[in-house]
Amino acid sequence: MKSPSAPKSKYRRVILKLGGESLRGKREHGISPETCDAIAKELKEVRALGVQLAIVIGGGNIFRGAAGTKRGLDHVTGDYMGMLATIINALALQDALEKNGVPTRVQSAIEMRAVAEPFIRRRAMRHLEKGRVVIFAAGTGSPYFSTDTTAALRASEIGAEVLLKATKVDGVYTADPKKDRKAKRYERLTYMDALKGRLQVMDSTAFSFCMENKIPIIVFNLFKHGNIARVLRGEKIGTLVS
Ligand code: UDP
Repeated sequence: MKSPSAPKSKYRRVILKLGGESLRGKREHGISPETCDAIAKELKEVRALGVQLAIVIGGGNIFRGAAGTKRGLDHVTGDYMGMLATIINALALQDALEKNGVPTRVQSAIEMRAVAEPFIRRRAMRHLEKGRVVIFAAGTGSPYFSTDTTAALRASEIGAEVLLKATKVDGVYTADPKKDRKAKRYERLTYMDALKGRLQVMDSTAFSFCMENKIPIIVFNLFKHGNIARVLRGEKIGTLVS
């Protein structure tokens, strides 16, 4: 897997946060197997950099608690439904990765032993040391949180050096780059900038958790080929929040 001449990753262990929407492709909802396959191929390439990769997967392409609450669903029930959605996504991503020859384990924060291991921190770290990609599903297992906060939490728990927040744009901008052509990308931000600016890219619980536990966040565009590898090699793409 690791060729001696391949440029190395700047990081030993990372958490990649993939929003559920990133699996949707061009569909309105749900999962695009082609998109999962494309992401899996990208991830397969970065393993050659010798990095230990754990993924926290979201559920927004299937269900978000907030969407249910708006229509009168009980908040906590909606959040559990959202967490179950992340398990569906985790299985889709696992399937795509394994079809591409990448060994994986799914660990779920809500026990579902027929399809995933329960989340066990030490076992997750052992999988990573053995070169397996670990996919964390079901968020924190508790309602009222997001999978961004889960990514921050798991990063701390397993000793990841950085949280890679994959998005559809090149980083954090002064305005929405899809609406405002003058919008400029920030190369660096402090956690405080992110919190005060109420940046849409992650919720404030996730940002403050990263701040307290000194986990740098790199916000970058997942949909540019080779970007994950660039981030891992330490190239200055996206926006660094530290
Ligand atoms: N969720 C939760 N607790 C968690 C993580 C997620 O209750 O620890 C629920 C919440 O309802 C959320 C949904 O699961 O809306 C899907 O997660 P998220 O919105 O973070 O997914 P993403 O936007 O990354 O696709």
